[in-house]
Amino acid sequence: MRKFGSLALAALILLSFAAILPLSASAVGSPTRLMVVEWYGRGSAEPYAIPAEDNSMSNPDYKLLRFYWHTTIEYWINSTNGYGFDESAVVGNITASANMWDEQTSYTLFACKGTTEKTAGVYDSYNVVAWGWYDNPNVIAVTYIWYTRNQIVETDTRMNTVFGWSLSGETGKMDVQNIMTHEFGHWCGLNDLYRDRDYWLTMYGYSGYGETHKRDLGLGDILGLQKRYGA
Ligand SMILES: [Zn+2]
Repeated sequence: MRKFGSLALAALILLSFAAILPLSASAVGSPTRLMVVEWYGRGSAEPYAIPAEDNSMSNPDYKLLRFYWHTTIEYWINSTNGYGFDESAVVGNITASANMWDEQTSYTLFACKGTTEKTAGVYDSYNVVAWGWYDNPNVIAVTYIWYTRNQIVETDTRMNTVFGWSLSGETGKMDVQNIMTHEFGHWCGLNDLYRDRDYWLTMYGYSGYGETHKRDLGLGDILGLQKRYGA
């Protein structure tokens, strides 16, 4: 019994090392990746509890991710699209989305570096917003976050080409500025809200065709931002 006990202990120690080594190696090497998605539709089948009136200016709800950028976020836009949008119009809409957040803090949060041919979803030290196909018809956009401890090191957003897109809130299409303002909230370290009561906030995790009310930040969105970056 004693021999078995010490063998078991030796095996346990070896296993612990095997378990610990790859972990510490990955903590030093490549950062962890998290994907957050904006869902099409809404959550539960429970009776509708979405407030009839826009209450976002008085709703203080927000949720923080465990990590956020500790520096100004330099980002690039790939305006390549199948919707006939001019590059300048795409850049205008997307920078307007980032500026909504920047306006609410004295911290210099975003810096658009221009356009790029690079794609979103690749860990390549470029923070990129781009259209691309994502293999889930219920996902409007996906934000990829790479982080080490509580520090984000790269963020990309892919707008899913499964959907039609609009620069002007057209019905039956996803509005670029509406969705990108939400996605940039993730870049700022905010998490999704899924309760019906949070429907009118930018960080509500569901969206739909023709929606534009996420373009404007609500109280909770601003409080969450300022919790991280100050007023
Ligand atoms: Zn989201």
